[in-house]
Amino acid sequence: MSSDDTLGVRLRPEIVAVPAYKQGRPAPADGFKLSSNENPFPPLPSVVEAVAATLRDLNRYPNAGGADLRERLAERHGVGVGQVHLGSGSVALLSQLISAAAGVGDEVVYSWRSFEAYPGLVTVAGATSVQVPNRPDGSHDLDAMAAAITDRTRVVIVCTPNNPTGTIVTTADFEAFMERVPSDLLVLLDEAYYEFVTDDAAVDGIPLLSRYPNLVVLRTFSKAYGLAALRIGYAVGPQAVLDAARSAAIPLSVTDASRVAALASIDAEDELMERVARLAMRRDRLRDALLEQGWAVPEAQGNFVWLATGEQTVEANDAFFDAGLTVRAFPPEGIRISVGEEESVDKLLQVAGDLVRNLPNGHPGKRLG
Ligand SMILES: *Cc1c(COP(=O)(O)O)cnc(C)c1O
Repeated sequence: MSSDDTLGVRLRPEIVAVPAYKQGRPAPADGFKLSSNENPFPPLPSVVEAVAATLRDLNRYPNAGGADLRERLAERHGVGVGQVHLGSGSVALLSQLISAAAGVGDEVVYSWRSFEAYPGLVTVAGATSVQVPNRPDGSHDLDAMAAAITDRTRVVIVCTPNNPTGTIVTTADFEAFMERVPSDLLVLLDEAYYEFVTDDAAVDGIPLLSRYPNLVVLRTFSKAYGLAALRIGYAVGPQAVLDAARSAAIPLSVTDASRVAALASIDAEDELMERVARLAMRRDRLRDALLEQGWAVPEAQGNFVWLATGEQTVEANDAFFDAGLTVRAFPPEGIRISVGEEESVDKLLQVAGDLVRNLPNGHPGKRLG
């Protein structure tokens, strides 16, 4: 079938125009994949065992209500079971919540650059993206975001730490922002990297839920808990909003394997959070070394760092790739590098050091003075 055969099919033009989701390139042999913010540690034996035990029942549909995991999460977060909703990754939850609140003619406000899935999800819902530029330091411009809210706005997404720039929203700034947001406008607080945060000023959404009836917090097991392959995340928020998300969900999409892996991961929390602490220290060491080399690295509170390589993004990406490092390039803005294996750090710094020396003076990626 030639591609011309499909020309007669009437598709939504805005869907046809969505660029294909670009997954991080795989690592070259002997190299490191630092392009998808994955956890470099392999799964714990207890998690593998729990998943293996589900294989006997592959002929059955999953227990998608997930009462056991929801109860566990509700208990730890001090909320009711109805205020927890599971999804096949928090991207699925974002999709459901956006679709539940915004349709044709409605607007969704978010900072940009931020998580690359947001624009596509908004378009699929039929709604319109309103992208508010990040501040020069890579952080959300919450004043401008509040000012971008109109009668048509149905969802605002706040991403902290922000993927890909690594910056956080502080509690004080978030509270001031919420004062300006109408109480019937849904605010999604995307905390995919919550566990990596070490800055005490960072907002923590779940304790704020009792104050804001329009707030939903999103968390995932993909990053800190190292379950990216299994696709499991959760939302915490008002039951009525989560019920609407459930109505917008594809039924039975949370598998037993992902659910039991999440439970086993909560059981092994201490060990997993020790890994996270090591990754956060590795991140800080990496950022300090990059600053020392002369890079202007924004605050890094996720498991990644951002280099504003600007017009040099493609060549910098190639230089990392040639050294066996796959990173994520967003030309012409910059490069996001995940904090991976310990052995990747020196290799990374070697390439980054050569690159920064060759950047012209006044380049946005370069530190002043
Ligand atoms: C990785 C990521 C997610 C979610 O990933 P899932 O694997 O779908 O849970 C959500 N938001 C941001 C900002 C992310 O970087």
